[in-house]
Amino acid sequence: MAPSPIDQWIRHDEEVTTLLSREWERQTTTLQLIASENFASPAVMAATGSILTNKYSEGYPGRRYYGGNQVVDEVEDLARRRLTALLGADHANVQPHSGANANVAVYQALLEAGDTILAMRLDQGGHLTHGSPASMTSKVWNFVSYGVTPRSDDPEHPGELIDFDNVRALALEHRPRMIVAGATAYARRIDPAPFREIADEVGALLFFDSAHVAGLIAGGSHPNPVPYADVVAFTTHKTLRGPRGGAIVCREEHAKKIDMAVFPGQQGGPLEHSIAAKAVAFKEAAQPSFSVYTDQIVANAKAFATALASEGFRLVSGGTENHMVLLDLREFDAELTGKVAQEVLDRAGITTNRNQIPDDPRSPFVTSGLRVGTAAETTAGMREGEFAQIASLMARALRGRDDEKTVAQVRADVATLCASFNPYASFVS
Ligand SMILES: *Cc1c(COP(=O)(O)O)cnc(C)c1O
Repeated sequence: MAPSPIDQWIRHDEEVTTLLSREWERQTTTLQLIASENFASPAVMAATGSILTNKYSEGYPGRRYYGGNQVVDEVEDLARRRLTALLGADHANVQPHSGANANVAVYQALLEAGDTILAMRLDQGGHLTHGSPASMTSKVWNFVSYGVTPRSDDPEHPGELIDFDNVRALALEHRPRMIVAGATAYARRIDPAPFREIADEVGALLFFDSAHVAGLIAGGSHPNPVPYADVVAFTTHKTLRGPRGGAIVCREEHAKKIDMAVFPGQQGGPLEHSIAAKAVAFKEAAQPSFSVYTDQIVANAKAFATALASEGFRLVSGGTENHMVLLDLREFDAELTGKVAQEVLDRAGITTNRNQIPDDPRSPFVTSGLRVGTAAETTAGMREGEFAQIASLMARALRGRDDEKTVAQVRADVATLCASFNPYASFVS
């Protein structure tokens, strides 16, 4: 199949062209269910592949260390204006190369080394940059971790929700300088208000890491943390559907410190091609059609969760209110690990990732859980019916995992489904 129009410029490089064609094939003939992925628009990808990659522009608009930034200043200003308008924020920094960079810049801007930060534990749904022992963040700052409530099988009173009593008790005991809200493997809405209350009670700053749900917030499907938090950081490539990268918005009082921490604190020259693509994505996210999209993401996740539960999977936290579903595989099959499930589904053309679940007895490399998300395939046009179908394809592949024929049959059915939902349809002329 012909790669995208952008790719024609690299046809002379056969090796890269071949790899891009193979990836095109993979993305269009298999299901993309990784909760942190999406399909960016052709406009976003065109900006990412633009001539702005050639420009050095260390500094900020109007205060650059290099000449020739007249146009780039306008590009970055446009991105910042669009972002502050989208989220109703005082100030925006669009330079972070990634979500992890954005988070470290936030800590660096507002804290001293050794300060205490209260954040969600990795195995309970938090991110590596929330103080995992494997992350540099845990070597510089003193992290204390909160978790989720115990598991409950009562549908009226689901467990595995953020334990605000635990957050409050730890905040009172450890008096953190900063509290972090936000998660990477948590299927419920995160309400910023109770976090603000606890932060105020102990005089802590509130940092909302909305990496996963930034798109849901922009579309109005989830509460906007900006009025509550001192700082909000996020990735631009997950539900927000922009280029790979990060961004930070904050209250005016923190603006200068945030900017200094990103550059020169952490990074060198900004990626202005990505910043132009972020501007494109922020405009796309401000359209009424984007709210329709994010509401559909959430509706699809609910339908997906219901169908997965009826196949015998246990839903961590009993359901979903965002774009992801976290599955406990033990109920479906006590022998099945997240690692094996991910590998079997890969062979069946269903791309997922294994994930630890709260109090997982297995290691992070093996796990008892699987995380799936609806953002990417919703972009491709799939609706509740298709997600119910995907749940049954997943169950068929996993039940028949020792029989190559069954897995191959699922793979063929997946290809048939994908043929009707090409995410790059607008690329093919
Ligand atoms: C994805 C994620 C990040 C990191 O983003 P990268 O762009 O991968 O560095 C940070 N925090 C949370 C909660 C995330 O989900």
